[in-house]
Amino acid sequence: MTGEISVKFYPCGSVRLSKDRCTGCGDCVKLCPVNALKLEDGTVVQVGVCVVCLGCMAVCKERAIQVDVVECPEELEVDVTSKNNVNV
Ligand code: SF4
Ligand code: SF4
Repeated sequence: MTGEISVKFYPCGSVRLSKDRCTGCGDCVKLCPVNALKLEDGTVVQVGVCVVCLGCMAVCKERAIQVDVVECPEELEVDVTSKNNVNV
């Protein structure tokens, strides 16, 4: 069994980061249930579909993340691969 499923899900999120606020702690990356975020060169980038759980906004002590609701494509691949690094 793979870690990917196809779902139709509306809406989707587009993550906006305030780089001047982000400390690169990685809490949001660890928390995201669908592996949509990644730390790259000490900053957060969106690398996958966001399902707008808003967990990253809630966990960020620096209030560095905003999630905008955007239209989703017809069919999405959501990465639900289990994570070994979640300590929340
Ligand atoms: S939780 Fe906030 S400060 Fe930490 S990496 Fe994510 S956006 Fe940056
Ligand atoms: S809102 Fe939820 S699904 Fe979207 S990037 Fe943040 S933690 Fe991941």
